[in-house]
Amino acid sequence: MKISMISEHASPLAALGGVDAGGQNVHVAALSEALAKRGHTVTVYTRRDATELPARVKVGRRLEVVHVDAGPACHIPKDELLPLMGELADGVAKDWGQRRPDVVHGHFWMSGLAALYAARREGAGYQVPVIQTFHALGTVKRRHQGAEDTSPLERRWLEPGVGRSADRIIATCSDEVFELKAMGINTSKISIAPCGVDLDLFSTEGPADPRPRRHRILSVGRLVPRKGVDLVIRALPLLSEAGFDDVELLIVGGGGDSKVLDADPEVRRLLGLAEELNLSDRVTLQGQVPRAAMPGIFRSADAVVCSPWYEPFGIVPLEAMACGVPVVAAAVGGLRDTVVDHGTGLHVPPRDPEAIASALALLLGDPALAAELGRAGQLRARSRYSWDRVAVETEKAYKLAMAEASAGRVPMEGAAL
Ligand code: UDP
Repeated sequence: MKISMISEHASPLAALGGVDAGGQNVHVAALSEALAKRGHTVTVYTRRDATELPARVKVGRRLEVVHVDAGPACHIPKDELLPLMGELADGVAKDWGQRRPDVVHGHFWMSGLAALYAARREGAGYQVPVIQTFHALGTVKRRHQGAEDTSPLERRWLEPGVGRSADRIIATCSDEVFELKAMGINTSKISIAPCGVDLDLFSTEGPADPRPRRHRILSVGRLVPRKGVDLVIRALPLLSEAGFDDVELLIVGGGGDSKVLDADPEVRRLLGLAEELNLSDRVTLQGQVPRAAMPGIFRSADAVVCSPWYEPFGIVPLEAMACGVPVVAAAVGGLRDTVVDHGTGLHVPPRDPEAIASALALLLGDPALAAELGRAGQLRARSRYSWDRVAVETEKAYKLAMAEASAGRVPMEGAAL
C-alpha cells in the first residue's frame, strides 16, 4: 500500500517534551515505521518549521518525511496553524502529482482538514480515501480548559466536520468513541487502534539511573497545566505524613535548554509551588530528555504518576509499564484502558492529591505489590501494545476504507465542511 500521513505540527523527527511535541510525534513516527516494516511505502507530510530542514528526509527504505512549505519556516503554536492548512494541502497534492497514495491518514483535526482538501480536490478527477485519528478532541479540551483553551473558534464546527467527512476514523480508546458519538459522528465507521510502545527501547532489561533518595516518583510529559504535575507535588507532603519522606519527585519534560525552561510559565509555577511547600530539595525538574535516555529513568522509579485532568491516550503509562514500573493513573480517557486498576497500577480520581498520596503510600509500603503490578504491566504492554500490533489494526481500517471507496460509497456528509 502507498500511504500518506499528514501531521501538520507534530513532526516524527522533532525533539519531544516541548509544549507542542509529545505523544502525536511518537505515534506518527512509530506507526509509520511499523507500517513500512510491514512492506508499505509511507510518506509523512509535516509543515516546515525551520529553514534549515531539507525538503525530504529518507528515514528508511520505505519511509520518508517531507517538509511542506506552508507559512513562515519557523515554529508557530499549533493553535495558530489553521489558516495554513490550504497551503499544506496544496503542497501535499503537488507532491502526489500523478502518483496518488492508496490512503491518506490525517493526525489531529487540522491535518484532517488538509487531508480532505488534498484528497478531494475539485476538478482533480480523483478521491483518495481519508482516515482520521484525532489524538485530542476540542469538545473534551473545552470541557476541561474552558476559557484557557486557545484552539481557534472554528474548531467547534470544523472538527466534527472532519469526523463526518472522513471515510474512516481510528479512535485510540473506548472513551474517545463515546466522545465522537456525542459529536454526532456515525460510530459504524470508527475502529479502535490504541497507541503503542517501542518494546525494543522500553523494557526491564538494562540499567536504571542512580537516584539520590530512597524512593523516586516520576512524572513525564509536556509541561502544560492539564497534565496535573502540580497535583503530584501537592501529594508529597501528604506522603511524608504517611511516613515516606525520603522521596524525590523527578519531573521530566518541558521544551529546550535551561534558558527556555527558566522562562516557561508552567515551570515557574511548579517550582514556585515546590518552594511554597518547602520541597525544593525533593522536587527535580529535569527538562527535556532524549528518547534513548528515557528507559533508564523509568527503571529508576518506584512508581510513575500520570495525573492529567483528561488524557486522549497517554503513551507515558505504557512506557512505564513496559519498563516494569507500576503506574498511579487518574482514571480518565485512555488511561482507563491502558492501566488496569490493582492489576498494573492504581487508579485515582482526577485532580485529587490525597488519592495520589494514598496510592503512592500503598506502593512504597508494599514492595511486593509494587513488583507484582510492575510485572503485570510489562506483560500487558508486551502482549497488547506493540506498534506491530497497532499497525495491523490500522491496516485493517485502511483496507476497509479502500474497499468502501472502490465499491463507490461516497461519504454521505462529504459536503459538511
Ligand atoms: N517524552 C520524551 N522526553 C521528554 C518528555 C516526554 O521522550 O522530555 C516523551 C514520552 O516518553 C512520551 C511522549 O513524549 O513518549 C509523551 O506522550 P504522551 O502520550 O504521554 O503525552 P502527550 O504529549 O501526547 O500529551
